[in-house]
Amino acid sequence: MDTQPKKQGRPRLTPEEKAERVRRHRENTKRWLAAHPEATLRYRNRTNAALKARYKVDPAYRLKVSQASKAWRAAHPERDYTATVIACRKRRQAQAFALLGGCCAHCGEKRPPVLVIDHIKPLRCGARRAKLHESTTHIYTKVLRDPVEAAKTYQILCANCNMAKGTGDVVPLEKVINWRECGN
Ligand SMILES: [Zn+2]
Repeated sequence: MDTQPKKQGRPRLTPEEKAERVRRHRENTKRWLAAHPEATLRYRNRTNAALKARYKVDPAYRLKVSQASKAWRAAHPERDYTATVIACRKRRQAQAFALLGGCCAHCGEKRPPVLVIDHIKPLRCGARRAKLHESTTHIYTKVLRDPVEAAKTYQILCANCNMAKGTGDVVPLEKVINWRECGN
């Protein structure tokens, strides 16, 4: 066993050297992650999940996140936060719709503004009360992650077909009025 007093090891780094080392480390990590996209995704998912879990249970962390986010927005007035969020949401919506077939599963309506995501097996009031329903954003995420699995639960409907389904009578396809062609 080594009975010597604890040896010095490497000489202490100056703050500049330390900063340089951190910078190099960050750069290397970035380069490695760029070369390994799958690992990047795995890493990001794991980190996000951990942060989300913490966000749920740690009020101090929630406050910190909210303050940091407010400060960033105040420091970057040129970045239109709301517009960014809306654009991102639209992009994800378009991707999710395309993955689910891109048109109403019932009548074939294709225009995005009138399409909605529908639970194939409806969520009844019980599920809603139990807060089992999900935000649309969450559904998009699911579709983008695993379109095949998601297609078992969700479909695209147009507003008309969705309404008809909601009232309990699914309109037989031959009776669906194509309102673009009915002259009104
Ligand atoms: Zn339809």
